[in-house]
Amino acid sequence: MSDSEFDRRRHTAASSLAERKLDALLVSFSPNLRYLTGFTGSNGSLLVLPDRSILFTDPRYQIQAGQEVTCQVKIAKGPLVDAVAAAIARLGLRRIGYEPARMSCDFFQSLQSKLPMKASLEPAAGWIEALRMVKSPEEIARIRRSVETNSRAFEQAVARARPGMKEQDLAAELEYRMRRLGAEKPSFETIVAAGVRSALPHAQPTAARFATGDLVVVDMGALEDGYCSDMTRMLFFGSPGAKVKRAYRAVREAQLAAIDAVRPGQAAARIDRAARTVLKAYGLDRAFVHSTGHGLGLEIHEPPRIGKRDKTRLEAGMAITIEPGVYLEGFGGIRIEDTVVVTTQGCEILTPTSKELRLI
Ligand code: ZN
Ligand code: ZN
Repeated sequence: MSDSEFDRRRHTAASSLAERKLDALLVSFSPNLRYLTGFTGSNGSLLVLPDRSILFTDPRYQIQAGQEVTCQVKIAKGPLVDAVAAAIARLGLRRIGYEPARMSCDFFQSLQSKLPMKASLEPAAGWIEALRMVKSPEEIARIRRSVETNSRAFEQAVARARPGMKEQDLAAELEYRMRRLGAEKPSFETIVAAGVRSALPHAQPTAARFATGDLVVVDMGALEDGYCSDMTRMLFFGSPGAKVKRAYRAVREAQLAAIDAVRPGQAAARIDRAARTVLKAYGLDRAFVHSTGHGLGLEIHEPPRIGKRDKTRLEAGMAITIEPGVYLEGFGGIRIEDTVVVTTQGCEILTPTSKELRLI
């Protein structure tokens, strides 16, 4: 990411301080810190002021911050909270926005107790997250690379899948392959679940071995250059019966209908409804127990949410997943998930992997 992109982001954040009647915004949540500065350390706080920003971190990150960050860096000798409080006092700041869902109670109480009398902490929830929803071309390029690495890892690992292989071993193979292909790590814990366990939407891989007749869900994502991908595909060991085929067709139709509905100006809830309407026609709507998708970027789950009650209007540049699924206890589950980017015309599906049920 270019230095000018970080400068631009901090400038955008700072430009809305006045309308919120704030003197500064304090950012400590690490994806937001990384978004605004490029800093990837685990301990930092950024004070965004109208005309500049100051990053506070500890001596472990002195060299790293010098390399990653273009704004002013202050290395705190003691706890960061002391350095932040001292700067607030020195600069005479009165109203300081903070991230209520992101700051620990401990940090909040400690900071409040150290502030000058006239200074106050004001909740400023979701501010940077809202800026992060619309991705720059540079960010979309990174998401695209992450998606491509993930799909290549899937192809390489699934080529080795055999009856008798353990869920855990396929998960390990998927993660090894994505690392070999350039990912830093998986963007979340890889899901491989076979047979009746595929009905658990967030199953963890076990030592269970694949057997003929198993439906297997593989939900995986790579983290590459800080950006996430997310994909779900289904495998079947043997030849599927009518019930599996019908449910698979229903989910694939629902997924395509939801993708068709993605365009700028569309409410997130409408996309969710498009998927649910198809599943209803198959009598499977009650088996769809989660929302249709989520935004992704620096985090695997970030706004907007593509759910029943989400009113966010999509904008070109948003990166989201489309992942309807049906889960039938004692039978199994089916989910198909792609990563897509909203364009000025509609959307582009980044995931190159075939949506066919993979027979093994
Ligand atoms: Zn997923
Ligand atoms: Zn997902």
